Amino acid sequence: MDEHDEDAIEGEVRDEVLDPEREARRRIALAQIRQYPDAALKMKARPVEDFDDELKSLAQRMKLLMHDANGIGLAATQVGVLRRLFVFQPSEDEVLAVANPEIVERSEETDVADEGCLSIQGITVPVERALEVTIVGKDETGADVRYELDGYAARCVQHENDHLDGVLMIDRTTPEARRGALGALRPRIVLT
Ligand SMILES: [Zn+2]
Repeated sequence: MDEHDEDAIEGEVRDEVLDPEREARRRIALAQIRQYPDAALKMKARPVEDFDDELKSLAQRMKLLMHDANGIGLAATQVGVLRRLFVFQPSEDEVLAVANPEIVERSEETDVADEGCLSIQGITVPVERALEVTIVGKDETGADVRYELDGYAARCVQHENDHLDGVLMIDRTTPEARRGALGALRPRIVLT
């Protein structure tokens, strides 16, 4: 596993300079991730019902895409699949999938930090999130999971959980930051 700098993590994105080969892989991965304003990003995902091979291969594909895109989180809606499933990387050597996630506890204490999103490239916006969360759900085999998280992992799962409800970081930021982000995105929308 590569060495990473935790301070470089913004929401679900690692802001790092990559060598040319990794940068090429990152671009290929990003091309497979839905980009704002793709309609799928605004849609609410449906619960996972069948924990079958198809779900396992979706989770595996998302883990690889997340890694190649230099992210630490990726929701199924970002690959155009409207199922309640996301993957995330809470530590260097752990990559997890959570289906039907539910945040059952949130600390009252919050923190504002810049977030990035693999579906909104080149933009970061400040978002207020709970510092600690407890999340329950199932892994890709259907087994119950429960994670008590803090730091960047807590922020990341709140970002991913939002994706499954069609909510983006620009919907959670300040009006000024939202205006700035939309202004920066607009020229690209015209070109696509
Ligand atoms: Zn995102």
